Amino acid sequence: MTTQSPASRSPGAQGEPAPQEAAVGVHRIDVTPVNAAANRKLYKAREPIYPKLVHGPFRAFKWVFLAFSLLVYYGLPWVRWPRAVGEPDQAVLVDFEGRRFYFFFIEIWPQEVYYITGLLIIAALSLFLVTSLFGRVWCGYACPQTIWTDLFIAVERFFEGDRNQRMRLDKAKWSPNKLARKLGKHIVWLLIAFATGGAWILYFHDAPSLARDFFLGQAPATAYIFAGILTFTTYSLAGMMREQVCTYMCPWPRIQGAMTDNETLEVTYRAERGEPRGPHRRGESWDGRGDCIDCKQCVAACPMGIDIRDGDQLECINCALCIDACDAIMVKIERPKGLIAYDSRANTQKRLGAAKRGTRILRPRTIYYAVALALVSVVMLVAFSSRSTIDLNVLRDRNPNYVQLSDGSVRNGYTVKIINKNNTEQTYRLTIDGPAGLSVSVVGAPDAGPEPEFTVGPDQVGRFRVYVTLPREALTAASLPLTFTVSETATQTEAVNPTMFQTGVGQ
Ligand code: SF4
Ligand code: SF4
Repeated sequence: MTTQSPASRSPGAQGEPAPQEAAVGVHRIDVTPVNAAANRKLYKAREPIYPKLVHGPFRAFKWVFLAFSLLVYYGLPWVRWPRAVGEPDQAVLVDFEGRRFYFFFIEIWPQEVYYITGLLIIAALSLFLVTSLFGRVWCGYACPQTIWTDLFIAVERFFEGDRNQRMRLDKAKWSPNKLARKLGKHIVWLLIAFATGGAWILYFHDAPSLARDFFLGQAPATAYIFAGILTFTTYSLAGMMREQVCTYMCPWPRIQGAMTDNETLEVTYRAERGEPRGPHRRGESWDGRGDCIDCKQCVAACPMGIDIRDGDQLECINCALCIDACDAIMVKIERPKGLIAYDSRANTQKRLGAAKRGTRILRPRTIYYAVALALVSVVMLVAFSSRSTIDLNVLRDRNPNYVQLSDGSVRNGYTVKIINKNNTEQTYRLTIDGPAGLSVSVVGAPDAGPEPEFTVGPDQVGRFRVYVTLPREALTAASLPLTFTVSETATQTEAVNPTMFQTGVGQ
């Protein structure tokens, strides 16, 4: 991929014709004085971009995807999901207070955070696979920066008009009309940004009660802080910084180069068909020239302000709006669509006769990603479907390590933590396997017997103190293995935790 820097964009990138010397490749000798060179700015000032509205299948798909994504993002915290009494009924909730993550019927406990890790790995591998097949489709369609920028541009267009009107308005002197349009745009931007920040915090608390408390001034301070931060970042990233986030701040454009190859489909200007470009009058012959009439509609439509005809560029987010723009022109001039299209370098080389093979869906890179994705998905599925409703955690006392009793026997203390992941109260039987003569007692329940039973409420963690005592004749080594097992009396589901018994022998 050519990584043309923003500073080296085509001079005609915003629809202006390029100077003649650039077109014919005249080289100038730099006669800039030394002190002037020292005064050069480190960063190039941002050139405003005025993307023109286009119509076509890619634009339509992007509108649908944008509406769907926003609906999901703003609406999800309000979706209810019935659970056991005392549990939150919010379908998607990151409950820091209760230390749980709820996602519809799934409930993740803190000790099951590896499920989240697995999901992140699946998401990363899916992104690698899609990128190796279709280039930066994540950037072009699904990235929040793209979606919110698209929404903010739509608001801008509503208040200030399409590309040419916006350019004229920005050049015009301040007037009541200009002030009203700019003010209207920024107010709606701020409202959207606030709704975005407000929706974010609803994922961390019961949405209806938090929303009410928020407007009554009774929500926790963190709610106001995070809503404020998200409001500010949404407003500045989507409203003010836009394409600069993708070009300068996001690492993905640099990383994704490692996932693409010659056969990756990317938005491509088919230069072999378009060149030599130039204006064309109706009725003129197409012989000896290309299909590009140099109308620059592809440039005007580009939200990144680049000219796709300059080749692959770091800034291109593969949004395909230039395809829609150019296809509309091709229809008008009665030439075949697809002068700009999703295509690969391999396909281009094949068309030019420089290679025998075009793009293959199945190639080593995509097979590797697909196999890795399938493997991780299967592991996750198996792990999740065999997920136990009970967890056992046994912690041996360290201070003191052991206690020697008057009859020569030795006692160790343990904290037994039983996690009941059921929505109903459960009874658990504890058995401890170890050397012969082992005896068990439960703190606070002297009559519990050798296999004590414990009751744990629905969706709760039960903590119990247990003493294990070994007679003098069983103390054959400094430490001896023990196995704690709890079984749910209703279902016989078991959880096992091996541990050690410290005898003090040899100390
Ligand atoms: S829209 Fe198509 S015809 Fe017009 S300049 Fe771009 S590539 Fe050429
Ligand atoms: S060049 Fe085309 S695909 Fe790339 S960002 Fe611009 S409009 Fe989107």
